[in-house]
Amino acid sequence: MYGLPRTIFTEEHDLFRDSIKDFIAQEISPNNAQWEKNKMVSRESWKKLGDNGFLCIQAPEKFGGLNIQDFRYNAIFIEELGLSGCSGPAIGYPLHSDIVFPYILHYGTEEAKTKYVPGMVSGDLISAVAMTEPGAGSDLQNIRSTAEEMEDHFLINGSKTFITNGYLSDIVVVAAKTDPTKGAKGISLFLIDKDMPGFSKGIPFEKVGLHAQDTCELFFEDVKVPKHNLLGKIGMGFNYLMTELAQERLIVALSALALAESTFQTTVDYVKNRPAFGKMVSDFQNTRFKLAEMAAKLEQARIYCDQLVVLHNDKKVDPAMASAAKYTMTELQCDVADECVQLHGGYGYMWEYAVARAYADARVQKIYAGTNEIMKELIARKILK
Ligand SMILES: Cc1cc2nc3c(=O)[nH]c(=O)nc-3n(C[C@H](O)[C@H](O)[C@H](O)COP(=O)(O)OP(=O)(O)OC[C@H]3O[C@@H](n4cnc5c(N)ncnc54)[C@H](O)[C@@H]3O)c2cc1C
Repeated sequence: MYGLPRTIFTEEHDLFRDSIKDFIAQEISPNNAQWEKNKMVSRESWKKLGDNGFLCIQAPEKFGGLNIQDFRYNAIFIEELGLSGCSGPAIGYPLHSDIVFPYILHYGTEEAKTKYVPGMVSGDLISAVAMTEPGAGSDLQNIRSTAEEMEDHFLINGSKTFITNGYLSDIVVVAAKTDPTKGAKGISLFLIDKDMPGFSKGIPFEKVGLHAQDTCELFFEDVKVPKHNLLGKIGMGFNYLMTELAQERLIVALSALALAESTFQTTVDYVKNRPAFGKMVSDFQNTRFKLAEMAAKLEQARIYCDQLVVLHNDKKVDPAMASAAKYTMTELQCDVADECVQLHGGYGYMWEYAVARAYADARVQKIYAGTNEIMKELIARKILK
Protein backbone atom coordinates (compact mmCIF):
# COMPACT_ATOMS: atom_id res chain seq x y z
CA MET A 1 0.00 0.00 0.00
CA TYR A 2 2.78 2.44 0.90
CA GLY A 3 5.76 3.62 -1.08
CA LEU A 4 8.36 4.04 1.66
CA PRO A 5 10.02 0.81 2.81
CA ARG A 6 10.08 0.02 6.50
CA THR A 7 13.58 -0.51 7.76
CA ILE A 8 13.30 -1.31 11.45
CA PHE A 9 12.48 -5.02 11.24
CA THR A 10 14.65 -8.11 10.67
CA GLU A 11 13.71 -11.50 9.22
CA GLU A 12 13.01 -12.79 12.74
CA HIS A 13 10.51 -9.98 13.25
CA ASP A 14 8.87 -10.85 9.92
CA LEU A 15 8.51 -14.48 11.00
CA PHE A 16 6.93 -13.39 14.26
CA ARG A 17 4.59 -11.12 12.30
CA ASP A 18 3.54 -14.04 10.10
CA SER A 19 2.74 -16.19 13.11
CA ILE A 20 0.67 -13.50 14.85
CA LYS A 21 -1.12 -12.72 11.57
CA ASP A 22 -2.07 -16.42 11.21
CA PHE A 23 -3.20 -16.55 14.81
CA ILE A 24 -5.41 -13.48 14.40
CA ALA A 25 -6.91 -14.84 11.16
CA GLN A 26 -7.78 -18.14 12.85
CA GLU A 27 -8.60 -17.23 16.42
CA ILE A 28 -9.57 -13.57 16.62
CA SER A 29 -11.16 -12.18 13.45
CA PRO A 30 -13.74 -15.00 13.10
CA ASN A 31 -14.85 -14.54 16.72
CA ASN A 32 -14.88 -10.76 17.00
CA ALA A 33 -18.52 -10.25 15.95
CA GLN A 34 -19.70 -12.65 18.66
CA TRP A 35 -17.40 -11.02 21.21
CA GLU A 36 -18.93 -7.64 20.34
CA LYS A 37 -22.34 -9.11 21.18
CA ASN A 38 -20.98 -10.60 24.43
CA LYS A 39 -19.30 -7.27 25.33
CA MET A 40 -16.05 -9.14 25.93
CA VAL A 41 -13.55 -11.45 24.29
CA SER A 42 -13.53 -15.09 25.43
CA ARG A 43 -11.34 -16.37 28.23
CA GLU A 44 -10.35 -19.14 25.85
CA SER A 45 -8.77 -16.55 23.52
CA TRP A 46 -6.53 -15.36 26.35
CA LYS A 47 -5.49 -18.95 27.02
CA LYS A 48 -4.73 -19.54 23.34
CA LEU A 49 -2.65 -16.37 23.18
CA GLY A 50 -0.72 -17.64 26.20
CA ASP A 51 -0.28 -21.12 24.74
CA ASN A 52 1.24 -19.53 21.63
CA GLY A 53 3.66 -17.38 23.62
CA PHE A 54 2.06 -14.04 22.68
CA LEU A 55 1.42 -12.67 26.20
CA CYS A 56 3.91 -10.75 28.35
CA ILE A 57 6.81 -11.73 26.06
CA GLN A 58 9.13 -9.62 28.18
CA ALA A 59 8.67 -11.88 31.23
CA PRO A 60 11.76 -13.70 32.52
CA GLU A 61 12.06 -17.39 31.63
CA LYS A 62 11.78 -18.42 35.29
CA PHE A 63 8.18 -17.17 35.18
CA GLY A 64 7.44 -18.95 31.90
CA GLY A 65 8.11 -15.94 29.66
CA LEU A 66 10.31 -15.60 26.57
CA ASN A 67 12.47 -12.83 28.05
CA ILE A 68 12.24 -10.79 24.83
CA GLN A 69 13.49 -7.27 25.53
CA ASP A 70 12.99 -5.95 22.00
CA PHE A 71 9.93 -3.70 21.84
CA ARG A 72 9.65 -4.23 18.09
CA TYR A 73 7.96 -7.57 18.85
CA ASN A 74 5.41 -5.87 21.10
CA ALA A 75 4.88 -3.28 18.36
CA ILE A 76 4.23 -6.00 15.76
CA PHE A 77 1.65 -7.64 18.03
CA ILE A 78 -0.14 -4.29 18.54
CA GLU A 79 0.09 -3.41 14.86
CA GLU A 80 -1.29 -6.71 13.58
CA LEU A 81 -4.21 -6.58 16.01
CA GLY A 82 -4.94 -3.06 14.80
CA LEU A 83 -4.67 -4.05 11.15
CA SER A 84 -7.25 -6.79 11.77
CA GLY A 85 -9.70 -4.00 12.65
CA CYS A 86 -10.75 -5.91 15.80
CA SER A 87 -10.62 -2.93 18.11
CA GLY A 88 -11.62 -4.61 21.39
CA PRO A 89 -8.84 -7.21 21.19
CA ALA A 90 -6.46 -4.55 19.82
CA ILE A 91 -6.84 -2.63 23.08
CA GLY A 92 -7.41 -5.34 25.69
CA TYR A 93 -4.59 -7.79 25.00
CA PRO A 94 -1.78 -5.19 24.76
CA LEU A 95 -3.11 -3.50 27.90
CA HIS A 96 -2.41 -6.73 29.76
CA SER A 97 1.05 -7.42 28.32
CA ASP A 98 2.47 -3.97 27.73
CA ILE A 99 0.69 -1.74 30.23
CA VAL A 100 -0.18 -3.75 33.34
CA PHE A 101 2.60 -6.31 33.24
CA PRO A 102 5.43 -3.69 33.34
CA TYR A 103 4.11 -2.41 36.70
CA ILE A 104 4.53 -5.88 38.18
CA LEU A 105 7.86 -6.48 36.46
CA HIS A 106 9.33 -3.13 37.52
CA TYR A 107 7.80 -2.65 40.98
CA GLY A 108 6.42 -6.01 42.14
CA THR A 109 7.90 -7.97 45.03
CA GLU A 110 9.41 -11.37 44.26
CA GLU A 111 6.42 -12.94 46.03
CA ALA A 112 3.93 -11.10 43.84
CA LYS A 113 5.86 -11.88 40.66
CA THR A 114 6.04 -15.57 41.55
CA LYS A 115 2.34 -15.65 42.29
CA TYR A 116 0.98 -13.69 39.31
CA VAL A 117 3.43 -13.53 36.40
CA PRO A 118 3.24 -17.21 35.30
CA GLY A 119 -0.57 -16.92 35.05
CA MET A 120 -0.31 -13.65 33.13
CA VAL A 121 2.08 -15.29 30.67
CA SER A 122 -0.11 -18.39 30.23
CA GLY A 123 -3.33 -16.40 29.85
CA ASP A 124 -4.87 -17.93 32.98
CA LEU A 125 -4.82 -14.53 34.68
CA ILE A 126 -6.25 -11.47 32.92
CA SER A 127 -5.11 -8.09 34.18
CA ALA A 128 -6.28 -4.48 34.35
CA VAL A 129 -5.09 -1.14 35.69
CA ALA A 130 -7.47 0.99 37.74
CA MET A 131 -6.70 4.67 38.20
CA THR A 132 -9.88 6.48 37.16
CA GLU A 133 -12.67 7.08 39.67
CA PRO A 134 -16.15 8.54 39.21
CA GLY A 135 -14.86 11.84 40.63
CA ALA A 136 -11.31 11.86 39.23
CA GLY A 137 -10.05 11.05 35.74
CA SER A 138 -7.64 13.60 34.33
CA ASP A 139 -7.16 14.95 37.84
CA LEU A 140 -5.58 11.76 39.11
CA GLN A 141 -4.10 13.40 42.20
CA ASN A 142 -7.64 13.80 43.49
CA ILE A 143 -8.58 10.12 43.72
CA ARG A 144 -10.56 9.15 46.83
CA SER A 145 -9.82 5.42 47.17
CA THR A 146 -7.86 4.82 50.35
CA ALA A 147 -5.32 2.28 51.52
CA GLU A 148 -4.88 2.23 55.27
CA GLU A 149 -1.74 0.55 56.53
CA MET A 150 -2.50 -2.07 59.19
CA GLU A 151 -0.09 -4.37 60.98
CA ASP A 152 0.14 -7.07 58.33
CA HIS A 153 -1.94 -5.75 55.42
CA PHE A 154 -3.39 -2.67 53.73
CA LEU A 155 -7.14 -2.05 53.96
CA ILE A 156 -8.47 -0.74 50.65
CA ASN A 157 -11.76 1.13 50.19
CA GLY A 158 -13.13 2.96 47.17
CA SER A 159 -14.28 2.46 43.62
CA LYS A 160 -12.90 2.75 40.10
CA THR A 161 -14.68 3.29 36.80
CA PHE A 162 -14.17 2.72 33.06
CA ILE A 163 -11.71 -0.11 33.65
CA THR A 164 -10.54 -1.90 30.50
CA ASN A 165 -10.50 -5.72 30.89
CA GLY A 166 -12.30 -4.99 34.17
CA TYR A 167 -15.06 -7.59 34.10
CA LEU A 168 -12.75 -10.49 33.21
CA SER A 169 -9.89 -9.23 35.35
CA ASP A 170 -8.23 -11.61 37.80
CA ILE A 171 -5.56 -9.19 38.93
CA VAL A 172 -5.72 -5.38 39.01
CA VAL A 173 -3.13 -2.67 39.62
CA VAL A 174 -5.06 -0.20 41.77
CA ALA A 175 -4.08 3.37 42.68
CA ALA A 176 -5.16 4.42 46.18
CA LYS A 177 -4.27 7.10 48.71
CA THR A 178 -2.02 5.91 51.52
CA ASP A 179 -1.96 9.52 52.73
CA PRO A 180 -5.15 11.43 51.80
CA THR A 181 -3.64 14.69 53.13
CA LYS A 182 -1.04 14.65 50.36
CA GLY A 183 -1.81 14.99 46.64
CA ALA A 184 0.37 13.07 44.24
CA LYS A 185 2.77 12.07 47.02
CA GLY A 186 -0.02 10.31 48.89
CA ILE A 187 -0.73 7.80 46.10
CA SER A 188 0.48 4.17 46.18
CA LEU A 189 -0.14 1.22 43.88
CA PHE A 190 -1.44 -2.20 44.91
CA LEU A 191 -2.09 -5.53 43.29
CA ILE A 192 -5.60 -6.67 44.10
CA ASP A 193 -6.76 -10.08 43.00
CA LYS A 194 -10.31 -11.18 42.38
CA ASP A 195 -10.25 -13.71 45.21
CA MET A 196 -9.74 -11.07 47.88
CA PRO A 197 -12.96 -10.65 49.89
CA GLY A 198 -14.57 -7.23 49.42
CA PHE A 199 -13.53 -6.85 45.76
CA SER A 200 -16.51 -6.78 43.37
CA LYS A 201 -17.22 -5.73 39.77
CA GLY A 202 -19.99 -4.01 37.86
CA ILE A 203 -21.34 -5.38 34.59
CA PRO A 204 -19.70 -4.23 31.32
CA PHE A 205 -20.79 -0.73 30.28
CA GLU A 206 -22.95 -0.01 27.20
CA LYS A 207 -20.40 1.97 25.21
CA VAL A 208 -20.54 3.90 21.93
CA GLY A 209 -17.83 1.63 20.52
CA LEU A 210 -15.22 -0.94 21.57
CA HIS A 211 -18.03 -3.43 22.07
CA ALA A 212 -15.73 -6.42 22.46
CA GLN A 213 -14.26 -4.79 25.56
CA ASP A 214 -15.44 -5.57 29.09
CA THR A 215 -15.01 -2.02 30.44
CA CYS A 216 -16.62 -1.82 33.89
CA GLU A 217 -16.60 -0.44 37.43
CA LEU A 218 -14.66 -2.03 40.28
CA PHE A 219 -15.55 -1.76 43.96
CA PHE A 220 -13.36 -2.26 47.02
CA GLU A 221 -14.91 -2.62 50.43
CA ASP A 222 -12.50 -3.33 53.27
CA VAL A 223 -10.29 -5.39 50.98
CA LYS A 224 -7.32 -6.78 52.91
CA VAL A 225 -4.28 -6.62 50.66
CA PRO A 226 -1.10 -8.35 51.86
CA LYS A 227 1.92 -6.09 52.27
CA HIS A 228 3.81 -7.90 49.53
CA ASN A 229 1.13 -6.75 47.06
CA LEU A 230 2.24 -3.14 47.42
CA LEU A 231 4.02 -2.12 44.21
CA GLY A 232 7.30 -0.37 44.91
CA LYS A 233 7.34 2.12 47.76
CA ILE A 234 4.55 3.86 49.65
CA GLY A 235 3.76 7.29 48.21
CA MET A 236 5.58 6.62 44.95
CA GLY A 237 2.50 5.49 42.98
CA PHE A 238 2.03 8.72 41.07
CA ASN A 239 5.69 8.68 39.99
CA TYR A 240 5.35 5.10 38.78
CA LEU A 241 2.19 5.97 36.86
CA MET A 242 3.86 8.92 35.16
CA THR A 243 6.83 6.72 34.22
CA GLU A 244 4.75 3.84 32.85
CA LEU A 245 2.15 6.03 31.14
CA ALA A 246 4.70 6.93 28.46
CA GLN A 247 4.66 3.35 27.16
CA GLU A 248 0.85 3.22 27.50
CA ARG A 249 0.53 6.34 25.34
CA LEU A 250 2.95 5.01 22.76
CA ILE A 251 0.90 1.81 22.58
CA VAL A 252 -2.31 3.77 22.03
CA ALA A 253 -0.52 5.67 19.24
CA LEU A 254 0.62 2.44 17.57
CA SER A 255 -2.82 0.88 17.80
CA ALA A 256 -4.45 4.09 16.51
CA LEU A 257 -2.26 4.11 13.43
CA ALA A 258 -2.81 0.43 12.64
CA LEU A 259 -6.57 0.74 13.13
CA ALA A 260 -6.56 3.79 10.83
CA GLU A 261 -4.65 1.81 8.19
CA SER A 262 -7.20 -0.98 8.45
CA THR A 263 -10.11 1.46 7.99
CA PHE A 264 -8.32 3.04 5.04
CA GLN A 265 -7.79 -0.32 3.31
CA THR A 266 -11.43 -1.32 3.88
CA THR A 267 -12.43 1.92 2.18
CA VAL A 268 -10.10 1.48 -0.79
CA ASP A 269 -11.70 -1.92 -1.38
CA TYR A 270 -15.19 -0.45 -1.05
CA VAL A 271 -14.84 2.53 -3.42
CA LYS A 272 -13.33 0.34 -6.13
CA ASN A 273 -16.51 -1.73 -6.15
CA ARG A 274 -19.29 0.80 -5.54
CA PRO A 275 -20.94 2.08 -8.75
CA ALA A 276 -22.38 5.61 -9.12
CA PHE A 277 -23.15 7.63 -12.26
CA GLY A 278 -21.96 4.78 -14.48
CA LYS A 279 -18.50 4.71 -12.86
CA MET A 280 -17.02 3.46 -9.63
CA VAL A 281 -16.82 5.79 -6.62
CA SER A 282 -13.03 5.44 -6.91
CA ASP A 283 -13.19 7.17 -10.32
CA PHE A 284 -14.34 10.51 -8.86
CA GLN A 285 -11.56 12.99 -8.40
CA ASN A 286 -12.78 13.82 -4.90
CA THR A 287 -12.43 10.16 -3.87
CA ARG A 288 -8.98 9.87 -5.41
CA PHE A 289 -7.79 13.05 -3.68
CA LYS A 290 -9.25 12.00 -0.34
CA LEU A 291 -7.51 8.62 -0.61
CA ALA A 292 -4.27 10.26 -1.65
CA GLU A 293 -4.43 12.72 1.26
CA MET A 294 -5.04 9.92 3.75
CA ALA A 295 -2.35 7.65 2.26
CA ALA A 296 0.23 10.43 2.42
CA LYS A 297 -0.59 11.17 6.06
CA LEU A 298 -0.61 7.49 7.01
CA GLU A 299 2.75 6.98 5.37
CA GLN A 300 4.29 9.87 7.29
CA ALA A 301 2.74 8.55 10.47
CA ARG A 302 4.14 5.07 9.89
CA ILE A 303 7.70 6.36 9.61
CA TYR A 304 7.15 8.54 12.69
CA CYS A 305 5.85 5.58 14.72
CA ASP A 306 8.63 3.27 13.53
CA GLN A 307 11.15 5.85 14.70
CA LEU A 308 9.44 6.04 18.09
CA VAL A 309 9.54 2.26 18.43
CA VAL A 310 13.30 2.28 17.81
CA LEU A 311 13.80 5.15 20.26
CA HIS A 312 11.66 3.39 22.85
CA ASN A 313 13.88 0.32 22.55
CA ASP A 314 16.73 2.58 23.66
CA LYS A 315 14.56 4.06 26.44
CA LYS A 316 14.69 7.46 24.76
CA VAL A 317 10.96 8.23 24.48
CA ASP A 318 10.12 10.84 27.12
CA PRO A 319 6.57 11.61 28.35
CA ALA A 320 6.16 14.58 25.98
CA MET A 321 7.21 12.49 22.97
CA ALA A 322 4.76 9.73 23.92
CA SER A 323 2.04 12.33 24.47
CA ALA A 324 2.67 13.87 21.04
CA ALA A 325 2.42 10.43 19.45
CA LYS A 326 -0.81 9.59 21.30
CA TYR A 327 -2.34 12.96 20.44
CA THR A 328 -1.42 13.01 16.76
CA MET A 329 -2.09 9.36 15.97
CA THR A 330 -5.51 9.29 17.66
CA GLU A 331 -6.51 12.51 15.88
CA LEU A 332 -5.39 10.92 12.62
CA GLN A 333 -7.36 7.75 13.37
CA CYS A 334 -10.53 9.76 14.00
CA ASP A 335 -10.01 11.92 10.89
CA VAL A 336 -9.44 8.85 8.70
CA ALA A 337 -12.51 7.10 10.16
CA ASP A 338 -14.63 10.19 9.46
CA GLU A 339 -13.44 10.54 5.84
CA CYS A 340 -13.88 6.82 5.26
CA VAL A 341 -17.48 6.87 6.53
CA GLN A 342 -18.12 9.70 4.07
CA LEU A 343 -16.66 7.70 1.17
CA HIS A 344 -19.00 4.82 2.05
CA GLY A 345 -22.09 7.05 1.83
CA GLY A 346 -25.11 5.75 3.77
CA TYR A 347 -23.55 2.31 4.16
CA GLY A 348 -20.85 3.96 6.22
CA TYR A 349 -23.49 4.66 8.86
CA MET A 350 -24.69 1.05 9.05
CA TRP A 351 -23.37 -0.94 11.99
CA GLU A 352 -22.86 -4.06 9.88
CA TYR A 353 -20.17 -2.18 7.93
CA ALA A 354 -16.69 -2.31 9.42
CA VAL A 355 -16.18 1.38 8.73
CA ALA A 356 -19.16 2.36 10.90
CA ARG A 357 -17.78 0.34 13.80
CA ALA A 358 -14.30 1.75 13.21
CA TYR A 359 -15.76 5.26 13.42
CA ALA A 360 -17.44 4.53 16.75
CA ASP A 361 -14.40 2.67 18.10
CA ALA A 362 -11.95 5.42 17.20
CA ARG A 363 -13.55 8.16 19.27
CA VAL A 364 -12.46 6.96 22.68
CA GLN A 365 -8.80 6.89 21.71
CA LYS A 366 -8.74 10.69 22.12
CA ILE A 367 -10.14 10.30 25.65
CA TYR A 368 -8.44 7.47 27.52
CA ALA A 369 -4.79 6.98 28.51
CA GLY A 370 -4.95 10.70 29.26
CA THR A 371 -7.20 12.96 27.18
CA ASN A 372 -5.65 14.73 24.21
CA GLU A 373 -6.00 18.00 26.10
CA ILE A 374 -3.80 16.57 28.85
CA MET A 375 -1.38 15.32 26.14
CA LYS A 376 -1.07 18.90 24.87
CA GLU A 377 -0.42 20.13 28.41
CA LEU A 378 2.45 17.63 28.74
CA ILE A 379 3.91 18.65 25.37
CA ALA A 380 3.63 22.35 26.26
CA ARG A 381 5.29 21.73 29.63
CA LYS A 382 8.37 20.41 27.86
CA ILE A 383 8.41 23.24 25.32
CA LEU A 384 8.14 25.92 27.99
CA LYS A 385 10.32 24.47 30.74
C1 LIG B 1 -13.58 2.94 27.13
C2 LIG B 1 -12.73 3.50 28.22
C3 LIG B 1 -11.72 2.72 28.77
C4 LIG B 1 -10.96 3.21 29.82
N1 LIG B 1 -10.02 2.40 30.42
C5 LIG B 1 -9.42 2.81 31.57
C6 LIG B 1 -8.59 1.92 32.32
O1 LIG B 1 -8.36 0.77 31.93
N2 LIG B 1 -8.07 2.36 33.50
C7 LIG B 1 -8.30 3.61 33.98
O2 LIG B 1 -7.82 3.94 35.05
N3 LIG B 1 -9.08 4.49 33.28
C8 LIG B 1 -9.65 4.11 32.11
N4 LIG B 1 -10.45 4.97 31.40
C9 LIG B 1 -10.67 6.31 31.93
C10 LIG B 1 -10.01 7.42 31.14
O3 LIG B 1 -8.62 7.36 31.25
C11 LIG B 1 -10.62 8.74 31.60
O4 LIG B 1 -11.96 8.76 31.15
C12 LIG B 1 -9.85 9.95 31.10
O5 LIG B 1 -8.59 10.02 31.72
C13 LIG B 1 -10.63 11.25 31.32
O6 LIG B 1 -11.07 11.36 32.63
P1 LIG B 1 -12.61 11.75 32.91
O7 LIG B 1 -13.45 10.80 32.15
O8 LIG B 1 -12.82 11.84 34.37
O9 LIG B 1 -12.79 13.17 32.25
P2 LIG B 1 -12.43 14.58 32.93
O10 LIG B 1 -11.09 14.50 33.56
O11 LIG B 1 -13.57 15.00 33.77
O12 LIG B 1 -12.34 15.51 31.66
C14 LIG B 1 -13.48 16.16 31.07
C15 LIG B 1 -12.94 17.14 30.02
O13 LIG B 1 -12.15 18.14 30.67
C16 LIG B 1 -10.88 18.20 30.05
N5 LIG B 1 -9.86 18.54 31.04
C17 LIG B 1 -9.67 18.00 32.27
N6 LIG B 1 -8.59 18.53 32.85
C18 LIG B 1 -8.08 19.43 31.98
C19 LIG B 1 -6.96 20.31 31.98
N7 LIG B 1 -6.11 20.35 33.02
N8 LIG B 1 -6.75 21.09 30.91
C20 LIG B 1 -7.58 21.04 29.84
N9 LIG B 1 -8.66 20.24 29.77
C21 LIG B 1 -8.90 19.44 30.82
C22 LIG B 1 -10.64 16.82 29.50
O14 LIG B 1 -9.65 16.83 28.49
C23 LIG B 1 -12.03 16.48 28.98
O15 LIG B 1 -12.21 17.05 27.72
C24 LIG B 1 -11.19 4.53 30.31
C25 LIG B 1 -12.17 5.32 29.72
C26 LIG B 1 -12.95 4.82 28.71
C27 LIG B 1 -14.04 5.68 28.14
